[in-house]
Amino acid sequence: MLIDESKCIGCGNCLDYCPMNAIALDGDVAKIDQAECVECSVCLRAQCCPTDAFYRPPLSYPRTLAWFFSDPASTHPSTEIPGRGTEEMKTNEITGRFPPGYAGIAIELGRPGIGTRFREVEKVARAMAEFGVEFEAQNPVTALMTDPKTGALPSEIHDLKVLSAIVEFAVELPLVPRILERLQELAPAIKTVFSVDLAVRCREDGSSPVEGMSLPFSLSLNGKTNVGLGRPRHN
Ligand code: SF4
Ligand code: SF4
Repeated sequence: MLIDESKCIGCGNCLDYCPMNAIALDGDVAKIDQAECVECSVCLRAQCCPTDAFYRPPLSYPRTLAWFFSDPASTHPSTEIPGRGTEEMKTNEITGRFPPGYAGIAIELGRPGIGTRFREVEKVARAMAEFGVEFEAQNPVTALMTDPKTGALPSEIHDLKVLSAIVEFAVELPLVPRILERLQELAPAIKTVFSVDLAVRCREDGSSPVEGMSLPFSLSLNGKTNVGLGRPRHN
């Protein structure tokens, strides 16, 4: 994102709208720190500028990735889905991607206010690849990997900052404690915040198959019920 300095009157209205704190006044005009801007479009959508000074110039790779990962209104060309993760993980699982005996795991790096560089995403992906996990093909981070066996991402995107990105895969349940332990061990080396989603299918009696497991994190239980928004393709 850029500001047309010939239009900017230095009113400062826009400063508080940027979730990455990337806009600052420089004398009489506002400027955007391009290393911190994640192309989320909040400044544009908010219509906070009285002179319409914000504009997005044509973007080229790898800058386009910042936009796809940070603006929920954009769609990833690699996966043709908007947002950062797959629908099955985030909302309404109808595909049977997480069958009984398996857990879906999503590691969400970055948040408004801090974001994440792909270097941090790669650290997590490489650590998970050591378990031989198969990364979710429909996930946009997986689509970027130069080698899904190692979790490697292209070196030219390591410094690129995005609002957030999700590393996603499914594993057999017995592997869950070791994966979480590895993430806990890795956490001090990750230069952003991350959260971990664990998606499992409840047993017939409504209990969770991870209840009673010795895990390094305490779980915050959330339920989601398929209320007919899609027809399950698997039982
Ligand atoms: S696009 Fe997003 S990160 Fe960039 S200046 Fe606008 S609000 Fe800030
Ligand atoms: S709101 Fe517009 S005119 Fe005011 S400082 Fe920001 S860019 Fe400049």
